[in-house]
Amino acid sequence: MFVDSHCHLDRLSDQTHGGDIAATLGAARAAHVSQFLAVSVTLEDMPQLAAIARAHHDVAISAGLHPLYSVEHEPSVADIKEAAEQYGAVAIGETGLDYHYRDSVPVEIQHERFRRHLIAAQELGLPVIIHTREAKEETLALLREYSDPRVGGVLHCFTEDLAMAREAVRLGFYISLSGIITFRNAASLRDLAGQLPLDRLLIETDSPYLAPVPYRGKPNEPAWVVEVAECIATQRGISVDEVAMQTAANFYQLFRAAAPDAPEHVKQGLANAGLL
Ligand SMILES: [Zn+2]
Ligand SMILES: [Zn+2]
Repeated sequence: MFVDSHCHLDRLSDQTHGGDIAATLGAARAAHVSQFLAVSVTLEDMPQLAAIARAHHDVAISAGLHPLYSVEHEPSVADIKEAAEQYGAVAIGETGLDYHYRDSVPVEIQHERFRRHLIAAQELGLPVIIHTREAKEETLALLREYSDPRVGGVLHCFTEDLAMAREAVRLGFYISLSGIITFRNAASLRDLAGQLPLDRLLIETDSPYLAPVPYRGKPNEPAWVVEVAECIATQRGISVDEVAMQTAANFYQLFRAAAPDAPEHVKQGLANAGLL
């Protein structure tokens, strides 16, 4: 089984199974993708995300406000916590820092927003989903200050360097790789996929964005997380089954609140490994 640890099911393209979430999830399940984490971009999405999770037992959700999303009122720590609790989120995010597009949301605002998410996550004991781009030192500094290594989180859609990944792992974080690792110009990310410990890796689509090779240019969908796993398997010289099983175990280890809904054979495997 495969887990898509990061997708935006509420933002599907009309070109993906006519924009039909059930059909999109059906296609993914047919490709043996059996768990999805639908990630929040703004707290206003929460009712819709919760409705998707209620309708699909294999969809878990997070609560957070993306660093690049403009809002009139910044959510407080209490607002973030309340949304997570009210809607049954298994994680806080996505949050973080994106200095590549610093013009859309100023750096100081991103910084404060990120800090409030980290505090909310710490107070709830929930893992954080981090979006980080061109803000290496600033991201790590905030994680050092505010994250709990026993709870941790994930650096999603990772595109930074091996040194940053290693430091994040040391702080108790997982590294999630997306379809970007299949891109022709992503040799250094493929190297990183071969070098990080397999028990700290997750896989994701970030759909509808970032479709992997050979689907580039199309709107992405969760079924294609398999391409990410295959790329990692090739890079490490191991089977795609091993990548699938280990990244699934990693997922439930990190997002423990999603684990009770894990398929029975996965729960058994995790229990045997002492992970549940
Ligand atoms: Zn992101
Ligand atoms: Zn995302």
